[in-house]
Amino acid sequence: MVLLLGAVYPTAAQGGDTTIHVVQRGDTLFHIAQEYGTTVEAITTANGIDDPRYLAVGQRLLIPGAQINAPGTPFTYTVQPGDSLAAITQAYQTTADSLSSANYITNPAQLYIGQQLTIKQGASDTGNTFAPPIRTLHHVRPDENPFRIALQYGVTLNQLRQANPLEFPFIVFPGQRLWIPGSKDAIPTRFNDLPLPLTSYTLTPGTGVQGQTLAIHITTTGPAQLSGTFMGYPLQFITQETNHHSALTGIHAFAQGGVHPMTLTVTEPDGTETPFTLRVLVADGGYGAENISLTTEKQDLLNTDVTEPEWQKFATVMSTFTDQRYFDGVMGLPSTGPVTSVFGTRRNYNGGVLDTFHSGTDFGSAPDSPILAPAAGIVMLVENLPVRGNLTIIDHGWGVCTAYFHQNDFRVAVGDVVVPGQVIGTVGSTGRSTGPHLHWEMWVNGVQVDPMQWVQQKFP
Ligand SMILES: [Zn+2]
Repeated sequence: MVLLLGAVYPTAAQGGDTTIHVVQRGDTLFHIAQEYGTTVEAITTANGIDDPRYLAVGQRLLIPGAQINAPGTPFTYTVQPGDSLAAITQAYQTTADSLSSANYITNPAQLYIGQQLTIKQGASDTGNTFAPPIRTLHHVRPDENPFRIALQYGVTLNQLRQANPLEFPFIVFPGQRLWIPGSKDAIPTRFNDLPLPLTSYTLTPGTGVQGQTLAIHITTTGPAQLSGTFMGYPLQFITQETNHHSALTGIHAFAQGGVHPMTLTVTEPDGTETPFTLRVLVADGGYGAENISLTTEKQDLLNTDVTEPEWQKFATVMSTFTDQRYFDGVMGLPSTGPVTSVFGTRRNYNGGVLDTFHSGTDFGSAPDSPILAPAAGIVMLVENLPVRGNLTIIDHGWGVCTAYFHQNDFRVAVGDVVVPGQVIGTVGSTGRSTGPHLHWEMWVNGVQVDPMQWVQQKFP
């Protein structure tokens, strides 16, 4: 991760043994320490950091004893968004041949995010003398021409042409974006092959997992709109500050594992469209299986004449998308009771086939104990349904909705604005339930996902 998300300056060639890491968006001290084979304590001590939780993007960190300066030592590198084989070989002073043979790569275009590569650093002839990958993005002004820009940054016209790439003879036009290679005034940027106007993207978490939420955050050089599709679901991007674009998507619990394309299109204000595709690894969720026994009386509730209309109504409300974001930070738990059943467990009813899964998290709470809003939102539905019993649905914005099944009592009404921790109802056993408990369910972008991920991690 380090050399690509954060430009690194191994100064061994100049006689020192110091490595500097430039903090990138999304970096944590823990991950930085892990990447360099050092400890959080060593970094905080070397940099006089009091509170390791706060790192500023662009902040330069001294990495003591970074293993990155040991040429020839093989290590494992995890492929990051935007990486290419060319970028990795250059950054680690190795060769495509060395990398390909060590990792059985036959087609470099087939790298995927999350892929583990064995890299033998320093395999190329250039040894430790390589130039750090630095480049600057320059916005062409009306009074500029190629000569003037090259002069300003101390580069040649040929270097300018190769960095972009442009064909000779080339002209520049106002508003055009040019990469300036190796400028000494350069601000380190992501070293990647993203087509302009894309400047970076981040996936949270780094790879997709069955039944989990995946957030994508993209930055562009200027105003733009993003659209895209992942695993059959359209992505709904929210743009902030004109060039920061975020989308949340849910990965179905039964989704096929492996590498899936995320197809995206950037549309600029003048109508220019730039398509690009990310290859995203979707990992197995590792969910178990169980059988559920229902009494004869409640078996009627498995009748599709009952379940289907209810499902349609439920799914429609849970697929609500609101531009406004109400959630903020990690979510709270909706109940103080113990978790009695986790999300994703493959299920059958009375010995049938394992064609369903547990679509939420169950809390074994006492009857009439309070149900708490885990995050802010707007109440979308308060209703008694045959299968889900007394049900409340909250819209948290940006395509995130949560539901609370089998309640005894309601404490909110449709249209209410709820705050985190507010009591929205009480635990019961109404509907298709085998005893008092709360079933907490979450949908993201129209897909059922594990709500507990949101208790541990913040999005986007
Ligand atoms: Zn449940």
